[in-house]
Amino acid sequence: MESNNPEANFADQHNILRSRLNQKGLRLTDQRQKILDLFVMTPDGEHLSAEDIYYQATTKGEKISYSTIYRALHMMVNLGIMREVELAEGRKYYELSTSPAKQHHHLVCVHCGEVHEFEDHRVTKASQQETLGHGFLLRDCQFTVYGICQMCQLSVI
Ligand SMILES: [Zn+2]
Ligand SMILES: [Zn+2]
Repeated sequence: MESNNPEANFADQHNILRSRLNQKGLRLTDQRQKILDLFVMTPDGEHLSAEDIYYQATTKGEKISYSTIYRALHMMVNLGIMREVELAEGRKYYELSTSPAKQHHHLVCVHCGEVHEFEDHRVTKASQQETLGHGFLLRDCQFTVYGICQMCQLSVI
């Protein structure tokens, strides 16, 4: 989990994605690999939108289209590698998945968009009981709290 070696993280993520793609008869293309690498390089607690990915990739000189980015993201979400979260109103963000038992949640400022991540075993427990009770397999549990951060409270007054 807490490897400080980015090379090892890239290799791990590539291997996970490659094996899940192979199970579905899909390939780890160069572009899918590069999109995944952007997430591996993103600091913990930060989330990327399709626009962020497009911007980061094109400033590095990559030729990539929005449709390629969207297709790659949806595919990785379906394979359970990536998690899609709605933080700012109506906008989708993406982050690498962790195991459902270690899932984190988000506290979002509706004014400036500042995001805090937190873990809460009660939410995790409730999601496990709910899925178990209905014979579901737990895939993701999202709990998002919207509020106004301290800085914004000062500027709103
Ligand atoms: Zn997050
Ligand atoms: Zn704020």
